[in-house]
Amino acid sequence: EDWPRQGSVELSGLSASYDAFSDPVLKDISLNILPGEKVALCGRTGSGKSSLVSALLRILELSKGTIRIDGIDISKVSRSHVRSRINIIPQQPFFLHGSVRLNANPESSVDDEQIIDSLQAVNLWSYIKSKGGLDIDMSDDLLSHGQQQLFCLARALCKSSSIVIMDEATSSVDSETDTLMQTVIRSHFKGQTLIAIAHKLHTILDFDKVALIEKGQVVEFDTPQAL
Ligand code: ATP
Ligand code: MG
Repeated sequence: EDWPRQGSVELSGLSASYDAFSDPVLKDISLNILPGEKVALCGRTGSGKSSLVSALLRILELSKGTIRIDGIDISKVSRSHVRSRINIIPQQPFFLHGSVRLNANPESSVDDEQIIDSLQAVNLWSYIKSKGGLDIDMSDDLLSHGQQQLFCLARALCKSSSIVIMDEATSSVDSETDTLMQTVIRSHFKGQTLIAIAHKLHTILDFDKVALIEKGQVVEFDTPQAL
């Protein structure tokens, strides 16, 4: 229940392929991420950033190597448990059939007040309230694309976990949404380990480390200043 408490992530010599016939998409990756560190994953489209996140969530199985979270080899932990214990903000927003409440907090782990606080933190509450509040259906046309991204961030705010993974959307959100998201992430996930796939340089300048990925390999792992 308490795992992971610290939020260290240790990747050693990991390789992975989507199927047995194709080249590995991740090749011999080793990275040591300390509790509370903010790490950006950078690299061109198709370099393997989302695949690395999939490996961390046990969506993509390793052909070699290990991933340890707080010292525990995640291949020994059930997939569903790994996924439930990591806080993920996905590249593509996704929604369940059901209410705003269900979508904001699928685990039903917090009360309405906390859901409202989270929606307020991302500036969505007054809009959702005007539409009918937490009980309304999450219909396709309720939220714009930028609002959908903010909503997924609010969902992450409802969840407590020592590890947060954010796969930043490639498609440009408007700069106001982007600024708000960056501010909320920095204030809310202060003590947590944050692994963020980032596309814009200005969002990673205050990160502790940057892992530069090229063709499935980590070619640099250093502070943003050093790179
Ligand atoms: P982007 O910046 O565009 O999101 P990325 O760095 O996240 O790119 P990945 O999505 O990890 O890149 O893709 C790495 C490689 O794996 C690509 O060649 C891609 O085509 C391939 N790939 C990704 N997902 C799958 C999948 N589900 N099945 C097979 N191949 C995949
Ligand atoms: Mg990706």
